[in-house]
Amino acid sequence: MSLDTSFDPEILQLPFYDEAHRNLARDIGVWCRERTEQWEGVRQETPEQAGLRLVKELAQSGWFRFLDPKSEEDAAAGDFRSLCLMREALAYAEDLADFAFSIQALSATPLLRHGSDEQKKRYLPGMADGSLVGAFAVSEEEAGSDVAALTLRAERTDDGYVLNGRKAWIANGSIAGLYCVIARTGEGSGPLGLTAFLVPADTPGARVLESVEPIAPRSFAHLAFEDCKVPHDAVLGKPGAGFVIAMDLLERFRMTVGAAAVGFARRAADAALARVRTRPAYGGRLIDLQLVKASLADMEVKLNAASLLVTRAAWEADRGNRRYPAHSSIAKLHATEAAQEIIDASVQLFGAAGVVKDSLPERLYRQIRSLRIYEGTSEVQLLTIAGALDMRRAALAK
Ligand SMILES: Cc1cc2nc3c(=O)[nH]c(=O)nc-3n(C[C@H](O)[C@H](O)[C@H](O)COP(=O)(O)OP(=O)(O)OC[C@H]3O[C@@H](n4cnc5c(N)ncnc54)[C@H](O)[C@@H]3O)c2cc1C
Repeated sequence: MSLDTSFDPEILQLPFYDEAHRNLARDIGVWCRERTEQWEGVRQETPEQAGLRLVKELAQSGWFRFLDPKSEEDAAAGDFRSLCLMREALAYAEDLADFAFSIQALSATPLLRHGSDEQKKRYLPGMADGSLVGAFAVSEEEAGSDVAALTLRAERTDDGYVLNGRKAWIANGSIAGLYCVIARTGEGSGPLGLTAFLVPADTPGARVLESVEPIAPRSFAHLAFEDCKVPHDAVLGKPGAGFVIAMDLLERFRMTVGAAAVGFARRAADAALARVRTRPAYGGRLIDLQLVKASLADMEVKLNAASLLVTRAAWEADRGNRRYPAHSSIAKLHATEAAQEIIDASVQLFGAAGVVKDSLPERLYRQIRSLRIYEGTSEVQLLTIAGALDMRRAALAK
C-alpha cells in the first residue's frame, strides 16, 4: 500500500463497494494530493476565510453535485458509501476540508429529504455551488445530548412564527447564510413539540451572539434569535416533526463521523510508521524495538476494525436495512474511540516532536477530540446501541 493514500486499497476491493465508489475514492484521493501545498497554507487564514473558500472550492470541483442533483449519477454521489469515502479522504488530507464538506452536506440534507419543491429550488442550487453556506442548529447551552429539552421558542402568529432563544456550539455558525433551526412550537410535549425552520442568516433578529474558539480552529458560534420573524413557509417538513428530522439526520451522519475518524487515524498511523522507520535508536532504528512494533500492530488492528465497521454501516444504509442507525452508532462509537487511541499512540511514538505546537501529530491530537462529542457523545451511542439490541430482541420474541 502506498503511504500517501488515504484509503486501505484492500478494503476498497471488498464487495461492499462498486466501481463508482472505487473511482470516487481514486478521484478524491488525487484531488487532495494535488492540494498538498494548499493544506499547509490553510492555517494562515482565519477559520472563517478558510471555511468559505473551501466550501466554494469543493463545490467548483463538483463534490457537492449530490446536493442539487441533475442526474441519477449526481444523486448517487451522495450515497452513504460515497459520503464516508469523501470524509475519510478529506480528513486524511486536512481537517478544515473535511469540516467544510461535512457541515455543508449535513446542513443541506434535511432540505433534500424534507424540503418542499419551492424550498429546494430556493436554497439547494446555492448550497451545491458553494455560494450559500449552511448550518444546522439544534444544541443549546442547557440542552445537548437531551435534545428534547431544548427551549428556543417559535410562537405561531397569523403571518408565520416568531423565534426567541439561543443556540450553542453551531458549526459554521459564524459564516452560514442559512440556518436550519430546531425550535419548540408545542404541538406536543418534549420531543413531540419541536419544529424545524429554515432561517436565512440575514433575517432581522437572527445574529451571531459569540464566536467560539475550539481546540481545532473552525467556524463555531453561539447564535441568538430575538423576535426573529419567519413566514409559514420557513417550516421544514411539518410542524411537530423537528425531533424526527434532527434524529434522522444524526443517524445518517454518525457513520460519516466514524469515516472522518478513520481518515485522521490513518494519517497518524502512516506518519508514525514513517517516523519510526527512520528514527535512529540504540544503534538501529526505533522500528527494531519490539514494543514499538507492538504499538504499530495495535494501530493497524484498530484501523482495520474501525474502517470495516464504517464500511459495513454505509453498506447497510445503502442497501436499505432499516436497522442501519444502530450500525451507524456502532461505527461512530468504535471508530472515534479507536482513532483517539491511535492518534495518542502516534504522538507517543514521535516523542517530544509529537507535542510541538502545529506539528502533524499535535494537530491530529486536537482535531480528533471533538468527534467523540458531536452528533451524539460516545455515551449516547452506547445507549442507542443497547436500545436497538433490546428492540431487536423484543421483535424476535414476538
Ligand atoms: C466541534 C463541535 C461541533 C458541533 N457542532 C454542532 C452543530 O453544528 N449543531 C449543533 O446543534 N450542535 C453542535 N455541537 C454540539 C454537540 O451536538 C453537543 O456538544 C453534544 O450533543 C453534547 O451535548 P453537550 O455538549 O451539551 O454535553 P452534555 O449533553 O451536557 O453531556 C455531558 C456529558 O454527559 C454525558 N451524558 C449525557 N447524557 C447522558 C446519558 N443519558 N447517559 C450517560 N451519559 C450522558 C455525555 O456523554 C457527556 O459525557 C457541536 C459540538 C462540537 C464539540
